[in-house]
Amino acid sequence: EPLDELIAGLSVDVPDFPNPGVLFRDLTPVFADGPAFRRVVEGLAAPALEDPRAAAVAHADDGVPGDPGFDVVVGVEARGFLLAAAVALRAGVGVVPVRKAGKLPRECVRADYALEYGTATVEMHTDSLRRGQRVLLVDDVLATGGTLAASVALVEELGGVVTAVSVVVELTALEGRERLVPHAVHALWTA
Ligand code: IMP
Repeated sequence: EPLDELIAGLSVDVPDFPNPGVLFRDLTPVFADGPAFRRVVEGLAAPALEDPRAAAVAHADDGVPGDPGFDVVVGVEARGFLLAAAVALRAGVGVVPVRKAGKLPRECVRADYALEYGTATVEMHTDSLRRGQRVLLVDDVLATGGTLAASVALVEELGGVVTAVSVVVELTALEGRERLVPHAVHALWTA
């Protein structure tokens, strides 16, 4: 079964959540299904698969040493955490969190971004990336792109190089991809 059809079939559309008029795509049933979760995790690492050495790593069952095409996976709170840790483990690299303001205990860089009502802030520890480190940025859903654009800004402020942005679902009508230019967005399903 194609991965996009698998995701579409397992995800659940929730009308009017969290606000009236919003159609929320709930991916928790996709993550709860073992074979689907495995394919999603492999798919999120796939920007690196254009490199055949990386393909060998990403399909290895037991962490074959090699270059997956990125040095670290950065995951966005909170559903991005479920994915980023699994992608990092599979690729044999570490995982670094982007968190909502006030959650990280040490010195942080922060980025504000606009929500439909008000603003939000995301943070990363100032010492969480090394200059030149290649970053795969992971979240579950690309909607307006505000969260991921702010996350890209943090990674770049810390000297990281975003190699790709991987999401399970891209809500294309919201044109979030435009806000991430020039970075490549890799979506497993477009809805
Ligand atoms: P943004 O509008 O792209 O910044 O999305 C904001 C955050 O809301 C992202 O981290 C997404 O995970 C989450 N989000 C937005 N829409 C949905 C949805 O339909 N389902 C699940 N998460 C969503």
